[in-house]
Amino acid sequence: MMQRITILGATGSIGVSTLDVLARHPDKYRVHALSAHGRVDELAEQCRVFRPQRAVVGSAEAAQRLAALVDGLGIDVAYGERALCEIASSDDTDTVMAAIVGAAGLAPTLAAARAGKKVLLANKEALVMSGQLFMDAVREHEATLLPIDSEHNAIFQSLPAHYARGPQAAGVAKILLTASGGPFLNRAVETLSNVTPDEACKHPNWSMGRKISVDSATMMNKGLEVIEAHWLFGAPAEQIEVVIHPQSVIHSMVSYVDGSVLAQLGNPDMRTPIAHALAYPERIESGVAQLDLTQTASLQFHRPDFGRFPCLALAFDALRAGGTAPALLNAANEVAVQAFLERRIGFRDIDRVVRGVMDDVAHGAAASIEAVMAQDARAREAAQRLVAGLQGAPAPTRAAAQVAG
Ligand code: NAD
Ligand code: MG
Repeated sequence: MMQRITILGATGSIGVSTLDVLARHPDKYRVHALSAHGRVDELAEQCRVFRPQRAVVGSAEAAQRLAALVDGLGIDVAYGERALCEIASSDDTDTVMAAIVGAAGLAPTLAAARAGKKVLLANKEALVMSGQLFMDAVREHEATLLPIDSEHNAIFQSLPAHYARGPQAAGVAKILLTASGGPFLNRAVETLSNVTPDEACKHPNWSMGRKISVDSATMMNKGLEVIEAHWLFGAPAEQIEVVIHPQSVIHSMVSYVDGSVLAQLGNPDMRTPIAHALAYPERIESGVAQLDLTQTASLQFHRPDFGRFPCLALAFDALRAGGTAPALLNAANEVAVQAFLERRIGFRDIDRVVRGVMDDVAHGAAASIEAVMAQDARAREAAQRLVAGLQGAPAPTRAAAQVAG
């Protein structure tokens, strides 16, 4: 049977890798729908190649342009969040690749879960924001949730099939989340204030979108992944350990009470977890070269330096605080990263903004998606205020601006 796929965020790094894997198996997969935000020309090209039934973009103007570009192909073009939710929950799709970046992916990813789809989750921010609510929707509507994030996919592969019964029952002692440490692992800390967006996006091992690349440089990405692991695998913060492994050959590990450690290894290429999740429980070819162990002689591991990477500590704090704290953390980070990418604030201001928001905005219970979205909005407002304060301030008075903001 053909698996029918919707890709949310088809023009992004994960979206493009997903289409690359699908193109290798035209006998197994058919694209039902594709979405993009603004890159209309790229989406039009994907439409010409993959012939989806539906395509969704971010605005009326983009939809008009796309409709003209794909005229005659019989593709239904729409725009906006409601259309994203429709292609994610349609009866004509079996599997949804959730690869929109940031909070914008929450509504359609949740719609896919509520429609009981097979959800391939790359959009970690959606799960970080809505944690329990999202997992409840998956259970209630019998959706299948498979992790695309390489670490979580590796952990999933290293857990027993009966894992649903939880870490204790499965004899899991710890989840060991590996982290490359990003481009600034060894850079002198005092020079970090001056790094540029391009330097921050130059990841040593992975090629990714700009937001997650900056998150990798601050290690907020690993922080979000700790929260993601908590929800996916039902493990408390104390059972999740971050291990710096600069080579990114081991994608994460599970250590068991009997002393065994199981790991998943491979070349750092997202097509491996994408192919794994698409075909699960079978295996398909992904286009990724086999790992040559003789070329990976030296594997290093060490503990993260929370002083160098304060965002990692902030994420652990948010997880322990619970409720809407992770949603606040995520929203503040999205605003700060965007401001950094637009050169409105410096690299070290990212953690200042996130900490400022965590201190200023009270978190509450994550009782509903509406409550989460309200907190997300409050955090964004507070973060914008802090960014505005930092923008006006010369570097030495920035700490003071944060307190005043
Ligand atoms: P990207 O920036 O390359 O692509 C993002 C996609 O989302 C694009 O298709 C874009 O059009 C769409 N998009 C952006 N803003 C949108 C909005 N407001 N509304 C609707 N669509 C919007 O990002 P990426 O690197 O592919 O990452 C996507 C997600 O996958 C992120 O959540 C990231 O954390 C996660 N992820 C990525 C990688 C990776 O290797 N790139 C690895 C693990 C997890
Ligand atoms: Mg990852």
